[in-house]
Amino acid sequence: MSIDQTTNSSSSSKRPVIIVGAGPVGLMAALVLVEAGVPVVIYERNLRPTTEWRAAALHARSLEMLARHNLAEKLIHAGNPFTGFTFIKNGRSQPGLTIDMIRSEFPFTLGCGQDTTERILNEQLAAHSVHVQWGWEYVSHDSIDDGISVHLKRVDTDETIVREAAYLVGCDGAHSKVRKAIGSQFIGKRIDYRIAVCDMEIDEDWLSTASFIQHREGMLGAIRAHPGNQYRLFTTWGADAPELTKETLVETIKRRVHPHKLHEPRVLSCSAFTVNERRASRYMSDDGRVFICGDAAHVHSPAGGQGMNTGMQDAENLAWKMAMVYHGFSRPELLASYETERTVIADDVLKLSGSLLSLLTSPMKQMIVGWLLPLIKRMPLFITRTQSETTSQLCIAYPIAKHCSSFADSPAWSRATASWLPFGWFADRTCAPGTRAVDCQVVDAARRACTRMRTFYAANNSAFKGILFIDYGKTEPCKDATTNGDDGAGMRRLSADVIEQIDATLEAFRAYKLPVMPAFVVHGVSMDSAETVEVPACASGIIGQLHNRFADVPVFVDMNQGQRYDHRTMADIYQCSRVKQRQQHAVYIIRPDAYVAMRMLLSEAATTVRVHLDTICLKQSAV
Ligand SMILES: Cc1cc2nc3c(=O)[nH]c(=O)nc-3n(C[C@H](O)[C@H](O)[C@H](O)COP(=O)(O)OP(=O)(O)OC[C@H]3O[C@@H](n4cnc5c(N)ncnc54)[C@H](O)[C@@H]3O)c2cc1C
Repeated sequence: MSIDQTTNSSSSSKRPVIIVGAGPVGLMAALVLVEAGVPVVIYERNLRPTTEWRAAALHARSLEMLARHNLAEKLIHAGNPFTGFTFIKNGRSQPGLTIDMIRSEFPFTLGCGQDTTERILNEQLAAHSVHVQWGWEYVSHDSIDDGISVHLKRVDTDETIVREAAYLVGCDGAHSKVRKAIGSQFIGKRIDYRIAVCDMEIDEDWLSTASFIQHREGMLGAIRAHPGNQYRLFTTWGADAPELTKETLVETIKRRVHPHKLHEPRVLSCSAFTVNERRASRYMSDDGRVFICGDAAHVHSPAGGQGMNTGMQDAENLAWKMAMVYHGFSRPELLASYETERTVIADDVLKLSGSLLSLLTSPMKQMIVGWLLPLIKRMPLFITRTQSETTSQLCIAYPIAKHCSSFADSPAWSRATASWLPFGWFADRTCAPGTRAVDCQVVDAARRACTRMRTFYAANNSAFKGILFIDYGKTEPCKDATTNGDDGAGMRRLSADVIEQIDATLEAFRAYKLPVMPAFVVHGVSMDSAETVEVPACASGIIGQLHNRFADVPVFVDMNQGQRYDHRTMADIYQCSRVKQRQQHAVYIIRPDAYVAMRMLLSEAATTVRVHLDTICLKQSAV
């Protein structure tokens, strides 16, 4: 047994974070941490990367997250985007629920084998000089001063080592040893139903990228997971079904696709498994040094393709908080919010995948779906869109709770945006605190080019962002008559009061050890169309004023988000256009994982930011 002297520092902040498991969740956690400047070491008991496809679908929310780490494009290039399932019954195809109307930059699901996702994550980590330590198995751990000592065993030689770490993150899958070591119970049930999964090369015109084939014996799903004709097929495999072999599975699939034919499919792999629906009773050890993510924390049916997507988002949620605490930007209490926030999401995912599984297994439900399908097209958009945004994980919302990093609206904000609806019934929750910060298209005023807010977020993924919405309609006319815009419209400017409020807000942002990164979004300027990047000359007065006065802060101009966003502008989506009181501009604070932390009026921002962020972020002066 050897102790690594290089990591044997007395200061926990010099020790790395140890991640157990190089599945998609462990790799995602490592990427977020290393991009935030935290040293990581990943130990994986397999001797080499997996070639199994397993998770074959990446949803819009995961793609948005991966886009902030510059990975979405590579994954899309390697996979097959699809916008809905085709339902096939008795050889007749009809379109099912589509997802092309979801409000995301990625209005599709990406068919992509887990091996590809892991390869692309590994390549990105290698660019940061992080290489998985293959062939090392986590055995146990002990608490030490300000850290953890981790016992590992070499799988091929039985050599054992001990490594010290600031934190230990167990991403070691459903049978997690780390989970057991922190005394977490895996609570839930085993579903008495087996699912058979088969990866095949099929060349059939009648099969779309994503199809559900209805048959009285059981539903059959097919997703094209790799370029070419490589499909993932999954179907129910009841207790009375024959023993699963390549031959029996192909025979069953051929029967279930009848009257369509399957000509000489090439089976790449096949397996059957029993579904478990379980969630860990706790995600964190008593001393706040050991955490679990992904399948180690929750397992459920693969229906709806939620497992890996949820796990990777667990990883991001934990990793940005861990980086803040590791660098001394935040108090350790912040880490407890990982469990508070993500257990709620896991419970929702268990319910969703459970109900989708019952569709696969219940002939009665399949019949009802068959009847409802023709009606889907006639359903109101808000119903079909909510359904699709839920499965795409865009509706995830975190609770507003103690030590969580999202805060309830201030009374001033609520008053300013109050609608006539009693008790806020039907209130639009888009971009409310705790929900996803919708990524919008804007015009970069300095470059006169169209861009997305996510490119600004990605510039410093680990920091909070402060978006100051400046309402053009609430500015004042320039007194000097010569300052008309080229288009003849009178130029406007920000009053001295507003400039003072901005100054005070930016000062509040700078008060923290990890400053909040600010940006302006000027809205209310009439842009000709959704595509235009030409900012009307009348707005140049305000833009110039902001550039001159706040040279380091990027200025964006709001634009119409197009048809998929119901032709709303960013300020509309963020509900700033509803701030009714005059001279009130708005401020949003966005978390590093692109969820809304808080929103407020500019006039109250300098104080409100401090009141809220003081509970999670440490000030420059704090020791
Ligand atoms: C057939 C199938 C289809 C699926 N389809 C989808 C889908 O379409 N979409 C979706 O989102 N999800 C899907 N899932 C679920 C998805 O595969 C999992 O949720 C995902 O793999 C979880 O990732 P993870 O990193 O948490 O765990 P894993 O991928 O299981 O990785 C855990 C890693 O930890 C390693 N490990 C375990 N113990 C130790 C130890 N003691 N020491 C060191 N290393 C250890 C393992 O070798 C493994 O590499 C599917 C699952 C299956 C089985």
